Amino acid sequence: MIAAPALSAAPKEAEAGLDHFLYRDGQLYAEDVPVAEIAATVGTPFYLYSTATLLRHFQLFDEALAWGPHLVCYAMKAASNQAILRTLAEAGAGMDVVSGGEYARAKAAGVPGERIVFSGVGKTREEIRMALEGGIRQFNVESEPEMRVISEVAVSLGVEAPITVRVNPDVDARTHAKIATGKSENKFGIPISRAREVYAEAAALPGLKVVGIDVHIGSQLTDLEPFALAYRKVAELTEVLRGDGHEITRLDLGGGLGIPYTRSNEAPPLPVEYGALIERELGHLGCEIEIEPGRLIAGNAGVLVSEVIYVKQGEGRDFLILDAAMNDLIRPAMYDAHHDIVPVVEPEAGAEQVPYDVVGPVCESGDTFARGRTMPTLSAGDRVVFRSAGAYGAVMSSEYNTRALTPEVMVKDDQFAVIRPRPSFDDMIKRDTLPEWL
Ligand SMILES: *Cc1c(COP(=O)(O)O)cnc(C)c1O
Repeated sequence: MIAAPALSAAPKEAEAGLDHFLYRDGQLYAEDVPVAEIAATVGTPFYLYSTATLLRHFQLFDEALAWGPHLVCYAMKAASNQAILRTLAEAGAGMDVVSGGEYARAKAAGVPGERIVFSGVGKTREEIRMALEGGIRQFNVESEPEMRVISEVAVSLGVEAPITVRVNPDVDARTHAKIATGKSENKFGIPISRAREVYAEAAALPGLKVVGIDVHIGSQLTDLEPFALAYRKVAELTEVLRGDGHEITRLDLGGGLGIPYTRSNEAPPLPVEYGALIERELGHLGCEIEIEPGRLIAGNAGVLVSEVIYVKQGEGRDFLILDAAMNDLIRPAMYDAHHDIVPVVEPEAGAEQVPYDVVGPVCESGDTFARGRTMPTLSAGDRVVFRSAGAYGAVMSSEYNTRALTPEVMVKDDQFAVIRPRPSFDDMIKRDTLPEWL
């Protein structure tokens, strides 16, 4: 196995052949397996993950925080297949979960409760009970009503619930509006200006044990400055709360570090730079550091493989109609996201490049992956790969238009395995149940 680059889509490293999805002998490989071979076995479309890339990205964070006690809690909402969770858990990762379902998935993958943190603005009584019974590292509390319910449930079970309070630092993450979470108008956390009174109430509630502070300002951040602003506020708050008599021993700093989605742009900061920033802003406080990266661990560790169904001539444009659609990968429709799309068969040097509107078969104009994208000439039956599709890809897929839920496949060195099979039409239909009057 060739040594992995820092971030798999960085241009120079990819050109130097250091990516885990790279061309070899004119074919795209995933680690040591030709993508075409998997496509011939599984059929398209499908998601394909590289074990080596997942582990590499986890380790980059782990190493970036090696200056002190820490836990990297993978934000599993980015990609939550059991095989991905088990791979990361075996490497020592904790998990950040945002629902009872994710908690159950983490436990099923073998993650011990003491390595699971529970985030999210709407934790229900049932979810809280489930986590307290199954074991939990901490709840990241998002409101006072939620804090009171956690205390009540804990008291009813005769236990103490470890908590942090998620503070909203009112910092602009400078990312897409739909994934910015750290401004005062966002629904997340408690205004940092009210943190003292909220911590005072937390300390007075019988079922809670305050262990630290939590913050998460958004996703796909491509600049360290917003992190620095937020973490500086957390450092100040740590001193203030300690002055008030609270034991602040743990700082959960959220996720959000961005990834390169294209090879033409400048790459976002590396985990090592992010880790150094954390040490600079918070290292002096002697706290255990937790981070919750999702996208950076899974994003470039996965691709979506698809096949061209038709090339259709339109008015002044050619449409590349793929067998993947918005139900398989919703990021372009939802966030105007860019994904590099490359052929599985390596184009010859100097091959003709033409602009395509790349679309799926779903009955919506929003089912458009790219407009006027310059690509090598393609024909029906050719296969392509969407790069950087590992995070917020398969987890956001649906069966809209009764298209089968996209299968998932994982490679490790020269092996591959289907880790979520494609349902048959019967499987899908049988999930419906008819009322007795029909
Ligand atoms: C989504 C989310 C993350 C992960 O964000 P990434 O951008 O994928 O790193 C971490 N923490 C919380 C609370 C989140 O909601």
